[in-house]
Amino acid sequence: MLSPRDGKVIASVDEAGPEDVDRAVRAARLAFDEGPWPRLPARERASFLFRLADLVEASAEELARTISLEMGKPLRDSLGIEVPAVVKTFRWYAELADKVSGEVTQSSASALALVTREPAGVVAAVVPWNFPLTMATWKLAPALITGCTVVLKPAEQSPLSALLLADLASKAGLPAGVLTVVNGPGPVTARALGLHPGVDVVTFTGSTSVGREFLRYSADSNLKRVWLELGGKSPNIVFPDAYDLDAAADTAAWGIFFNSGEMCTAASRLLVHRDIADDFVARVVSRAAAYFPGDPLDPATRMGPLVSAAHRSSVLARVSEAVSGGARLLTGGRPCLHDTGGWYLEPTILDRVDPSMPIARSEVFGPVLSVLTFSTTAEALSLAGDTPYGLAAAVWTRDLATAHHVSRSLKAGTVWVNCYEEGDLTVPFGGAKLSGHGRDKSVHALDKFTDLKTTWLAFP
Ligand code: NAD
Repeated sequence: MLSPRDGKVIASVDEAGPEDVDRAVRAARLAFDEGPWPRLPARERASFLFRLADLVEASAEELARTISLEMGKPLRDSLGIEVPAVVKTFRWYAELADKVSGEVTQSSASALALVTREPAGVVAAVVPWNFPLTMATWKLAPALITGCTVVLKPAEQSPLSALLLADLASKAGLPAGVLTVVNGPGPVTARALGLHPGVDVVTFTGSTSVGREFLRYSADSNLKRVWLELGGKSPNIVFPDAYDLDAAADTAAWGIFFNSGEMCTAASRLLVHRDIADDFVARVVSRAAAYFPGDPLDPATRMGPLVSAAHRSSVLARVSEAVSGGARLLTGGRPCLHDTGGWYLEPTILDRVDPSMPIARSEVFGPVLSVLTFSTTAEALSLAGDTPYGLAAAVWTRDLATAHHVSRSLKAGTVWVNCYEEGDLTVPFGGAKLSGHGRDKSVHALDKFTDLKTTWLAFP
C-alpha cells in the first residue's frame, strides 16, 4: 500500500479471501456460542475494555503516526483527536457495562414477565478510512460490551492501524475469537462477511452505494440485520443575524477543510442569506489559505493530502464539472505540492452553485465548498432538504424562533445551532434518508447489538 503523504510504498498487507473470512466467522461463532465472553458478568467484560483503552493510550504516538501515514490525516488530528476518541469510547462503554438493565413489566399475580437484553451474536463491522480507528471503535466498544463477538473489516486504505488495534486487544487478554481483523478488498472480503450465514449483524459505515450492497447481501443470505452509517451533504445555513459572522466564517472553513473534507458530516454546502453573501463568502475565502495542505507528519499541518490519487482525480473531476456547469471558482481547485509525490489539493470554494448541479446534490468527500444563497427561511429549508441525504445540518442565527423552526424542520440525524461538529459519547450519531439508519455512540448504540427477550414466569 502507498502513503498519500508521498505516494511511496509503506507496507504490504495480506488479503483475506472467502475461506479466511469463513475461518474468522467460525472462530467468532465458536467464541459466542461456547466461549466465556457472552457469559461473563458485564463488569468483567468491562475490565478488558478498560485494559484495551489503557494500552491504546500508551501506544498513542505509534497509532497516530500509523493513521497519518496510511490515510494522510495530520498528526495533530490523529494524535489530538482520533486516538483520544478511541480511548474515550472504550472507557465510556466499559463504564456503561452494568448500568443498562432489563425490565419487569406489568403482569398479573400469577405471572411475571421479564424483558432482558441479550447479545445479538456475531457482528461484522465494516468501516471506512477517514477516521479508521474511531469508526471501528464506535462499533467495537458497544458490540463487545454487550457480549457479542466481532469480525472487523477495515478499509483497504487503512489496514495498519486496525492491525495494531487487534494486537493491543490480544495484549489486553480478549479471549480467542472475540475480535478478529480481516483485511482485503471490499467486494471480496467484506462481501464474504455480508453473505456469511454465521454473521448475525452487520454494522457498516461507508458510502451509500456500498450500504445498498449490504442490504442485498442480507436479503440473499440469512436476513442478518444491517445497520448503515452512510454519506452526507450537510447544509450550513447562515442568517444575517448570526451572533458573530467571524466565528461563523471560521467554522464554515473548518467544517469543510478539516480532515481534507473527507468527513461524512463535512459542511459541504454553505447556504448564506443574500443580504450578507458577498461579505460572508469573502470572510470564508480569506480563511482558506490557513488550510493550504502540508505534510501530515508535520505537527503544524492543518490539512493533509487526499487519501489516494484516484480519489483526488475524482474530486478534481467534480470541480471541473461544476465550473463547466456555471459555478465560479473563488479559490483553489488545483493539485499542489507535486514534488512531494503525494496527493495534495488546494482548499477549494465554488460559488454561483445552482441547486440542480451534481456538486450541490451528491457527496464530494474532499475539501470543496459549494456556496448557495437564499432570501427567505422557506427558501433556505427547501435548499437544505434538496438532497437525498439527511446526516447533519447547522443553522447560525440569534433568533430563537428561527433556530427552533429551522432545526425542527430539517430532516437530519444531527442539527447544530450556532456551532458545528459538537459531539459527545452521550449523544447518538447517525442519519436519515440515504445517510442510513441506526445510531452509533450513546446508550442507543446498544440496541444494534442486543435482542430483547421476553420470558414469562407463571405461578399456578
Ligand atoms: P466505501 O463505501 O467505499 O468503503 C467502506 C467499506 O466498505 C470499506 O471497508 C470497503 O472495503 C467496503 N466495501 C467497498 N466495496 C464493497 C462491496 N462491494 N461490498 C462490501 N464491502 C465493500 O466508503 P469509503 O470510501 O471507505 O468512505 C467514505 C464514505 O464513508 C463516504 O460516503 C462517507 O460519507 C462515509 N462515512 C460515513 C460516516 C457516518 O457515520 N455516516 C462516517 C464516515 C464516513
